[in-house]
Amino acid sequence: MNKGSSTITNLTYGGRIYRLIERLYPICRSITGDGIRKTLHIFQDFIPLVIHEIETGTKVFDWTVPDEWNISDAWIKNSKGEKVIDFNDSNLHVLNYSIPVDKKVSLGELKEHLYTLPDQPDLIPYRTSYYQEKWGFCMSHNKLKTLQDEIYHVKVDSTLEEGSLSYGELFIKGKSNDEVLISCHICHPSLANDNLSGVSVALHLAKALLNEELRYSYRFLFIPGTIGSITWLARNEDKLGNIRYGLVLSCLGDSGSLTFKKSRSGDREIDKIGSLIMNSREDEGASVREFLPYGYDERQYCSPGINLPVGCLTRTPFGEFPEYHTSADNPGFMSEESLEDSLQALKEFITCFEGNQTYMNKKPKCEPNLGKRGLYDSTGGRARTSESRMALLWILNQADGSHSLVDIARKSGIDFDIVRKAAEDLRGAGLLEERPENDKRSI
Ligand code: ZN
Repeated sequence: MNKGSSTITNLTYGGRIYRLIERLYPICRSITGDGIRKTLHIFQDFIPLVIHEIETGTKVFDWTVPDEWNISDAWIKNSKGEKVIDFNDSNLHVLNYSIPVDKKVSLGELKEHLYTLPDQPDLIPYRTSYYQEKWGFCMSHNKLKTLQDEIYHVKVDSTLEEGSLSYGELFIKGKSNDEVLISCHICHPSLANDNLSGVSVALHLAKALLNEELRYSYRFLFIPGTIGSITWLARNEDKLGNIRYGLVLSCLGDSGSLTFKKSRSGDREIDKIGSLIMNSREDEGASVREFLPYGYDERQYCSPGINLPVGCLTRTPFGEFPEYHTSADNPGFMSEESLEDSLQALKEFITCFEGNQTYMNKKPKCEPNLGKRGLYDSTGGRARTSESRMALLWILNQADGSHSLVDIARKSGIDFDIVRKAAEDLRGAGLLEERPENDKRSI
């Protein structure tokens, strides 16, 4: 479809999204704790987000909500008492979920708790240990090389205690109870593309949708990765039957091209829409990938017992940019243009969600006479383009209850908006009737 064609009000929000990323970037987030709460409270400045707290120890399918982690300070001091590593310089310096420690260690023992990137010696890696009790620090490899053979004082002032797991949910009611699910992970500390970009683009999309009259209901989830989606799914199995389309969002601020990863089934309407939009951006290098049981929370949404029509939209996929999970994934790695373009692509997804429909031709025996219905050359005084005339013929030919308008747009190569408008005209002339779409989930 044409970029810029959308039923959603045009936004020029790249700068606003970028500023939100800068605001969120310094906060030390994890899968639980005050960092995630502070982040969700900031979201409430923009949208009426509901914050849920799920107690430590709650069983969620095969998992258990873990102890809550909080941290106030961490450092390594040399024998002169000088801080050689300071959590206040970068929250990536601490192994995320590090247990508390306060002791003196030799360089040899310290090294067993240090994480560096020898191939990217200037960068601090991002490392976690959520489910194995460990303490540790991350630093640049160049910094490690400067450490003398002496006794170090290490301190991680953290707590791991019973508490809760926090996540944010925004439900926007549309005309239908059928839903679109938009999910992104909010558990990473100072990392921008993964995933403050996805979070901030999603938040601005939600803000825009709040002002729209919508056919579908929209559910936005801002959740810690893996345990958050598992927790939400375990608590909301009764809602899954309503989910018609879904997207996991991440890595939407880098300068790479858009990438759509299909759902587990690979042939749901979300997959067709993702393919349609990526095809329209082929000249920019946009691409489609098949499902893989690795990645973000689509792993949970697309597990076999859940099997939702959920794809994943990124620019450069995770792990395929050298800045991934390092201190180089900072706001400077983001561009306002990419963030704006990602939001634009999402608006195109929304246009397809809202406009997609499966019809039956009510006069399928030969072509109906369009001329006598005033459809062939004009409609409402507007001259038809040859493309919109072709759209009428494509719809009438394909509308046998098994092809959606997205199918017809893909097959004909005609812009989705033109197909949708042609279908409205045909319906207005009494030539089409609705059939349920293919992705009404049966469970
Ligand atoms: Zn990540």
